[in-house]
Amino acid sequence: MSLANKYRPQTFDEMIWQEHIIDILKAQMQSRDAVHHNYLLFWPRGTWKTTSARLIAKALNCLDLQNWNPCNHCVNCELINNETSLDYVEIDAASHTWVDDIRDEIIDKSIYPPTALRKKIYVIDEVHMLSKSAFNALLKTIEEPKWNVCFILATTEIHKVPDTIISRCQVFNYRKVLDWAMISHLEHICKNENLSYTESALRIIAEISEGCVRDAVKYVDQVSILWDLNEENVSRFLGVAWEALIENLLNLIRQWDRNTIFSKLDDIEQHGIDLSQFAKQTLWYIDKHMLEDVDFYLKCSECFWTIISTLKWYPYPVIAFKIAINNLVSLDNQKIDNQSIPKYENNNHDMKVSSPSVSSEKGKKSVDSDSSSESKQEEKHVKKEQLTVPSVSWSFDFPAIWSRVLFWMNKPTAQENLKDQAIIEKKEGSVVEITVITPLAKMLLNNEENKKVVEQLLSKEFWEAVSITTTFVKKEEYFAKKMWL
Ligand SMILES: [Zn+2]
Repeated sequence: MSLANKYRPQTFDEMIWQEHIIDILKAQMQSRDAVHHNYLLFWPRGTWKTTSARLIAKALNCLDLQNWNPCNHCVNCELINNETSLDYVEIDAASHTWVDDIRDEIIDKSIYPPTALRKKIYVIDEVHMLSKSAFNALLKTIEEPKWNVCFILATTEIHKVPDTIISRCQVFNYRKVLDWAMISHLEHICKNENLSYTESALRIIAEISEGCVRDAVKYVDQVSILWDLNEENVSRFLGVAWEALIENLLNLIRQWDRNTIFSKLDDIEQHGIDLSQFAKQTLWYIDKHMLEDVDFYLKCSECFWTIISTLKWYPYPVIAFKIAINNLVSLDNQKIDNQSIPKYENNNHDMKVSSPSVSSEKGKKSVDSDSSSESKQEEKHVKKEQLTVPSVSWSFDFPAIWSRVLFWMNKPTAQENLKDQAIIEKKEGSVVEITVITPLAKMLLNNEENKKVVEQLLSKEFWEAVSITTTFVKKEEYFAKKMWL
């Protein structure tokens, strides 16, 4: 018997990481005849769907509940486990043969009481695939619930299930199993089976199975047949990278040793490591270590995200890696220049537009920190400006505002191409001046619709209605100018 079958949960208590559902189900079993429910089980990704549906079916029918779990030995439990009862019907809506039959099956047969079980159970897997007429038939049936008929619907795409159905079911969202819970589950299995393992090997398995317990157990089974479960064997068998390899590559990127990075990538490919899996693993690694170096890892995660999304278009995946990593580092160099600019501009701005009405606390602080002659100058400015510009723009963090605006724009092309290529220079009254340094950025911001959205978002940021003006400056000229300023 395979490990996946052996460790398939037979009771609620054996379902790992789903306590939020199990607690409710067990409570319901305490008054299972008084309360009637149809169920809609939602999984982010297919795992143990029929097993879970079957567990509920067994619990609703079991003659000898054990701590509100199905007993698995009474005649009803066995009928369901062996699928030998006419009262227990499993339908896979994804298989087309059922789509036409399901209407008759549901309408005609569900009106008869169960023959052997306490409750007649219909499990409809991938319910979102039903046709409209099938959904109507289903709706009619569950609108007039009978205590001895129960529908257990399962789906991976709940947004495709009509609201009318959802509102008549108790919905259970199953959680993706987190890595640490998965690792401890796998450890439990290894100990039970006397398998030799290392924790890091189990970690790799947990990561690549992405929360799917069945897959994880299957991998343990496959590797352990031939070898010990250590990092090297797991990575060799499953074509995945081990952590040190990922760490090493990220370090090379940090040091920007391009030749070594590129030859490392070739090595990785020649080792038979699946590069698309490798990109995903790197993202997980980054996510785990994000707080250790937020700026660096955020940039890397964007880069690896790009790699994952472009990989399917590239016949030679290693090239996709090289291009994206190269872009990451050249962008990074630009950004260093770029970052120094808004700072300079802001300071400049500070002096120009500080207004005493807002200044008191914050204004004084910045004045104090400047050298005395400058602060005198500034005070003059302040006095001069105080009557004309009662604005608070000196305190705005333009780069931060700009990244929020792009975020809320929620338009990937614009986000991608305006991020470092459009820079807020200043705000004069209700006009925000933006410099664009590529033709594409210019085009994007001149587009009426985009412009309107940007202006609306900026108005929210500045708490007043603002409009934008854009000036195009060639990238090279822009940076050259800023460098020499
Ligand atoms: Zn039982």
